[in-house]
Amino acid sequence: MDFIASANKAIVQLQPYQPGKPSDELERELGLTRISKLASNENPLGPSEKINTCLGQAFQDLTRYPDGSANQLKQKLSELHQVEIDQITVGNGSNDVLELVARVFLGPGTQAIVAQHSFVVFSLVTLALDSQLTIVPAVNYGQDLSATLAAVTPRTKMIFIANPNNPTGTWLTEKAMREFLDALPGHVIVVLDQAYFEYVVESDYPDGIALSREYPNLVVTRTFSKAYGLASLRLGYAISHRDIADLMNRIRQPFNVNNMALAAAMIALDDQDYVNKSVQLNTAGMAQLSAMASELGLQVIPSVGNFLCVDFGREAGPIYDGLLREGVIVRPVGLYELPSFLRVTIGTAEENLHFFAALKKVLDKQ
Ligand SMILES: *Cc1c(COP(=O)(O)O)cnc(C)c1O
Repeated sequence: MDFIASANKAIVQLQPYQPGKPSDELERELGLTRISKLASNENPLGPSEKINTCLGQAFQDLTRYPDGSANQLKQKLSELHQVEIDQITVGNGSNDVLELVARVFLGPGTQAIVAQHSFVVFSLVTLALDSQLTIVPAVNYGQDLSATLAAVTPRTKMIFIANPNNPTGTWLTEKAMREFLDALPGHVIVVLDQAYFEYVVESDYPDGIALSREYPNLVVTRTFSKAYGLASLRLGYAISHRDIADLMNRIRQPFNVNNMALAAAMIALDDQDYVNKSVQLNTAGMAQLSAMASELGLQVIPSVGNFLCVDFGREAGPIYDGLLREGVIVRPVGLYELPSFLRVTIGTAEENLHFFAALKKVLDKQ
């Protein structure tokens, strides 16, 4: 049986997602004990201590299915964001809701638009659904909104925007977003991924959920994986027009969010101190890493996320390998058409210093 020949062409042609290298894999391979994982934009603080207590209770309930409607969490999110409960769709990570919204609107004969260097999950879900993917060239590594508008055709169903974008860290102002949304035909869905929302301190950075009150074609996604420090539990959500949420919820797996995640999220949303601490650590770490890069004469892409793309001016693969041997895992971004860059997640002050020392060693040797 030739299973490949009989499979969906769109799936056969997909390039699988490449996650950051896990620490224990590097430990196994090189026998290193001190490892700084700065590869997946995780929160370096570790989870909020308050979460330990609630997980004990969720652990007692492991034999039971979770609340498939995520009722308590949705209640809390609806108060926090001042939206109705029926506008919320929960997901097994925000990647799950990105896929759900794509499945509602995309398929053969449709078109979706993404920016060059933008988050790879957008193109993955589009291509998997056999929808046509249009990639708009970036300006200064960021999304060119006028070129994005110009790329719209009668078949365009969806435009994906990550604000800020991963891996570049580039971002769009509220004014730019409004001008774009005003000019866009209302039948085109804009998926605005705000995974790093909590980290952004710039005053003209838009709150997508506030914008979605004026633009019903806007679907905003958020996550507990970054500033809330819960990447492993897998929990994200979308806020949208209720009719879109209704369709997304029809195809959502009934128990796509587990008990532990639901319990932890309730605590995490109340632990604003933890989020503030995470943001402060990130802002300080961003300054620290930027200073290190400039000390080494390296350019960076200005970033408002919890990561920074550093330009080595040449193929960055050997530098990535050298850093691995020093116990520092960063992320190659050749897949994103940024072959001379490495993406570095902001770590603790100590991890950032580990990266700096390792990088100096690697650059000296090469
Ligand atoms: C990290 C990240 C996410 C979060 O994904 P989860 O599935 O919620 O863990 C979403 N979008 C972007 C752009 C990201 O970088």
